[in-house]
Amino acid sequence: MKGPPKRIVIVGGGSAGWMAASLLHHAWDRHGTKITLLESSDIGIIGVGEGSTPFLRQFFEQLEIPESEWMPYCSATYKCGIRFPEWTHEKGHRSYFHPFFSQLDLTTAGAFFHNCGLRRRRHSAVTHPDNFFVSAALARTHRGPKPAQALPFVPDYAYHFDAGRLGEFLKNRAIALGVEHLIGTVDGVSQNDQGDIVSLETEQQGKIVADFFLDCSGFAGLLINKCLGEKFHSYRDNLFNDSAIALATPIDTRGPIPSQTVSTALKFGWVWKIPLTSRYGNGYVYSSDFVSAEAAERELREHLGGAAEGVEARHLKMRVGRVDNHWSKNCLAVGLSQGFIEPLEATALMLIQFTVQYFIQLMEEGDFTDRYRTECNHKINVAFEGVRDYVVAHYQLSKRDDSDYWIENRNHTHRSANLSAILDAWDHGEDFEATLTRHAKTLVYLRPNWYCILAGMGRFSRRTRKTTTPQAASADKTRAYCEEIARGFPSHRRQLQQTYGEAGGDWCFEP
Ligand SMILES: Cc1cc2nc3c(=O)[nH]c(=O)nc-3n(C[C@H](O)[C@H](O)[C@H](O)COP(=O)(O)OP(=O)(O)OC[C@H]3O[C@@H](n4cnc5c(N)ncnc54)[C@H](O)[C@@H]3O)c2cc1C
Repeated sequence: MKGPPKRIVIVGGGSAGWMAASLLHHAWDRHGTKITLLESSDIGIIGVGEGSTPFLRQFFEQLEIPESEWMPYCSATYKCGIRFPEWTHEKGHRSYFHPFFSQLDLTTAGAFFHNCGLRRRRHSAVTHPDNFFVSAALARTHRGPKPAQALPFVPDYAYHFDAGRLGEFLKNRAIALGVEHLIGTVDGVSQNDQGDIVSLETEQQGKIVADFFLDCSGFAGLLINKCLGEKFHSYRDNLFNDSAIALATPIDTRGPIPSQTVSTALKFGWVWKIPLTSRYGNGYVYSSDFVSAEAAERELREHLGGAAEGVEARHLKMRVGRVDNHWSKNCLAVGLSQGFIEPLEATALMLIQFTVQYFIQLMEEGDFTDRYRTECNHKINVAFEGVRDYVVAHYQLSKRDDSDYWIENRNHTHRSANLSAILDAWDHGEDFEATLTRHAKTLVYLRPNWYCILAGMGRFSRRTRKTTTPQAASADKTRAYCEEIARGFPSHRRQLQQTYGEAGGDWCFEP
């Protein structure tokens, strides 16, 4: 096959299915590609996933969907980064902020890297990341990420949103643009002699034929695993969490609205708290090897206090890992069917977007050969492994010892060679920059991210050799500088009122 397929069928109507439909339609409608999305009315969507990375901004920009159009519909808010409380109990490190880094931070981040370098060699220097990033100052003061007056650089940012509403928004839009929407449950798949999928069988729609298929069927992996037999590569030996409990609590939008996700470590995992304009989304991600579902729910409710009283909790199982081949035969797996890394850094939609965009790029560049499939699968696996390593680092760096869960998470040795190289270079006072550069091709998280997590968790060895003492940068000065810049940004609440107002809607955030 040369160029884009003529007829594509997407199985699954969750976020993955509708994001893929939107991107494929945008890229190939002009080539006459016909896109059909088939979903089951008997099998629901996962319906969680309220956080994102700045990558999602590109998604909306590419599709030319303004914030004022989708954010009010999805009760969305702005996200400047993630706060991590209680990941270690060490004094001075009980909480740190992981910012979205931008050019606005260049000066102060230089001071941060410098101080970290000194402290790694046992000199005294302030290294807490909260002092060095504009996004941290914005989140601390409940501000939005868009300046009141134009600046030469602007902070990067992401969004929080109601996942169910986002799927619905994309669905309505895609159908209006001409994507065909069918309801039916796939109960049979036909393949030709080469193993390519030829058609799907459904009771409601009969036989559905296409020349290319997307498996967006969620954890079921209907086409990629069950039909094509692609192996699932579990991350269980270094990511222990396999379960989650989601529970919404009320938000008072009359007061300051947070512009950060808070991910607090508990005894057997961690809890997300995500502000929407309609509610807080909360959820406990934990390992069922260490705590029962009932005990985990008790712990979550205790953590949330009165706000959770009488609210029903949803229990979910997670299949953590990835398939080896995301693109197999004439099928591309996208979303939970291709793999999932626990949502600590809210990366799942980013991987969906990356997979579909890369697939589009390759199909447009060349023909439908094994070489392209191999390259595509390799790149996606590198992206998964890059995210996995950064998430694993949170557990390996934690100094909590209040349960076997934390002790085993820290002590296991199943970490990747990449992660070992990064942690070893940091711990032994080696040239950290050179190590990051050496691994640049396989890293998803970059220099500021690694410095933030390592310094934020207080990972400073006492065994490194002292060198001559250059002057440490003043954290008081960098903090004051960030706060001065932050004063030029409106409150998050005001920013949302403005965005929602542009839609001509009601600014008081009613859905
Ligand atoms: C606890 C938790 C928290 C998360 N938090 C985040 C987050 O903060 N940020 C983030 O980016 N992501 C997050 N995610 C991931 C995110 O929710 C998913 O990546 C995203 O929703 C995509 O899901 P999906 O579309 O692949 O699958 P689903 O939503 O499960 O959709 C599957 C679809 O396949 C259809 N289907 C299945 N079988 C058949 C069949 N036989 N015939 C026809 N149709 C079928 C179903 O009807 C459904 O429409 C989280 C996930 C979990 C579990």
